[in-house]
Amino acid sequence: MLKDKTALVVGASGDIGLEICSEFLKNRALVVATYRCGGARLDSLSEKFGTALVPKSLDVRDAAAVDRFAESLEADGLVPDILIYNAGIVKDSPALGMEDSDWSEVIEINLTGAFRVARAVAKPMSLRKKGKIFFVSSVAGMKGGRGQANYAASKAGLEALARTLASELSRKNILVNSIAPGVIESRMSATLMESSSAEVLSKILLGRPGRPSEVARLIVHLSSDDVTYITGQTFNIDGGFKL
Ligand code: NDP
Repeated sequence: MLKDKTALVVGASGDIGLEICSEFLKNRALVVATYRCGGARLDSLSEKFGTALVPKSLDVRDAAAVDRFAESLEADGLVPDILIYNAGIVKDSPALGMEDSDWSEVIEINLTGAFRVARAVAKPMSLRKKGKIFFVSSVAGMKGGRGQANYAASKAGLEALARTLASELSRKNILVNSIAPGVIESRMSATLMESSSAEVLSKILLGRPGRPSEVARLIVHLSSDDVTYITGQTFNIDGGFKL
């Protein structure tokens, strides 16, 4: 379905990122997959898909490195048709006791990093007059989350950024959308599920957490050339999550 497409997955080495890469590769895309320190987690995909996976190290906190990275993609003929910004961290604590450093780091990686990468990658996309950008947000962006002032604010900002870019880039035929997962089986949600799984599951209409592959399949579907008239939207994929 995605033959001859290049997908750039930023934050590819986590539970959801690996599934996104795998799903794009299964659909025959070339995938540039970035990691910060978990590059080894991409090894099994490299073994399975060979040169269709191009792993690259990138720390989105380094603005100059993001620009160099985007230039290197152009030089290597790897300008992405599709960008998936999936990098994200949590540093939870009650808002009144939250350290400035925990606030800043989450905003820096979840939101500022997305702005930097999208700004750098949308330039060559604009010249080609086509492209798709996805930001992986969270239900917390719309609903908030106890102990997640930094995280919820970063994801709400991310969705607003997507809507703004959708508006500015529409004349360049670049579609920009957000994907907002609920609770997904992953290391990120493991602590939450260990401490309060019954409470969490009672809030999900389908009564189970989502799977990373379910998020990945939604993004691949929206990446297909069949989807041409959707931009500035947030897609919730949360099994029917209620507060
Ligand atoms: P993981 O912690 O498993 O993966 C996070 C990814 O972000 C990793 O690839 C990590 O790289 C990368 N990353 C972290 N810091 C940086 C940085 N400074 N520069 C570049 N990359 C960085 O998380 P998940 O796979 O669970 O989550 C993926 C996305 O989905 C996140 O944006 C998260 O907010 C969102 N989400 C997750 C949910 C869940 O239940 N898991 C629910 C809702 C949304 P490395 O490991 O190499 O350091």
